[in-house]
Amino acid sequence: MESRHRAWAEIDLEAFRRNLRRSRQLAGKAAVWPVLKANAYGHGAVAIARVCAQESVARIGVGDSSEALQLRHSGVRLPLLVLGAAIDAEIPALVEHQIEIGVHSESRARALAKLAENQGGRLGVHLKVDTGMGRLGVRPEAVLRVARAILEEPALELRGLMTHFSSSRGAQDPTTEGQQALFFAAASELRQTLGVTPLLHCANSAAVFSALPQLGDAVRPGIALYGILPGDLEHPSGLEEVLSLHTQVVFLKDVPAGTAIGYDSRWTSHRPTRIATLPMGYNDGLPYTLGQHGQGQVLVRGQRCPVVGAVSMDYCTIDVGHVPGVAVGDRVTLIGPSGRDRLRAHDLASAAGTIPYEITCRLGARVQRVYLGGQQPAPTPAPVAT
Ligand SMILES: *Cc1c(COP(=O)(O)O)cnc(C)c1O
Repeated sequence: MESRHRAWAEIDLEAFRRNLRRSRQLAGKAAVWPVLKANAYGHGAVAIARVCAQESVARIGVGDSSEALQLRHSGVRLPLLVLGAAIDAEIPALVEHQIEIGVHSESRARALAKLAENQGGRLGVHLKVDTGMGRLGVRPEAVLRVARAILEEPALELRGLMTHFSSSRGAQDPTTEGQQALFFAAASELRQTLGVTPLLHCANSAAVFSALPQLGDAVRPGIALYGILPGDLEHPSGLEEVLSLHTQVVFLKDVPAGTAIGYDSRWTSHRPTRIATLPMGYNDGLPYTLGQHGQGQVLVRGQRCPVVGAVSMDYCTIDVGHVPGVAVGDRVTLIGPSGRDRLRAHDLASAAGTIPYEITCRLGARVQRVYLGGQQPAPTPAPVAT
């Protein structure tokens, strides 16, 4: 099978659509706000956002203002929420393009209000409470004070109250329940003391796919929509991996026993064998560590072949000595099916000592994104935010 690309990722937009629908079933009454940060976890944010628009999602989560602006400039008009913290320099663009932002302090709330006022606009904000992640968000005891500050500012609209769970095991980890209890306590304090009921959202993929009860008004799954589950959660039959990753053999060489391969001779053949060189290296997002412990594997003609030697910037090497008939131009699969076998992002991640999030997020710009499906009518205008 020939390809025009040296290395490419096939992204099945219909699989994404089915995963989104599956998440909606699990979320019940809670709205699903897909998280598209890191270029939609490496899948291509614009293409994924178009599917989200076709499916009439109410809101999309992104990582920072540059990601939000990229979507705006590509014609995505859905409400966008920057999940993290803004730095001062980002604020004017957020106001100009009506991008919502998480608020973590009174001083940031005041600064946002001032800029929104100066530009004659209003800005939707989501107050983030730190219930145990320990990264961003106000402490639970400061929620009332910061909420009051937001409510005092006519240029700000308090649209949401959010928190983020630290566990990759969702309901299977008792810390999740503890965080959830603190979160809903803060929400009822807001309601009882200040009479406000912003949208409540706390759940990531792990929480949704471990059947955590009481999800609030919306959930924010990321990785699960791409068909990958975090941590050691069982892979439920309802999700399909959206991305497959391929390259092709560019060079083949028969070597005798005792041949050192790659930088620092990290691997030496102990029998005569055949080495295939692949035009994909760490600049394309392959982890350098993949070749280190002999754990990394790829599929050629449906057979598993070990990555041998250190991964270099533009290339890596595999041992194909046991696979008959390998030729230059053969497709090599790093994630996805080949013959009757299949590798998952999880396999690549565990071989490299990392998590599947890092594998897809770090796919390089040279890896061609090839989209399958998604040929639907152009995005419809943004629905009203809920
Ligand atoms: C990344 C992120 C998510 C999505 O997490 P997944 O584990 O990919 O589902 C949700 N909320 C916030 C605040 C995030 O930063």
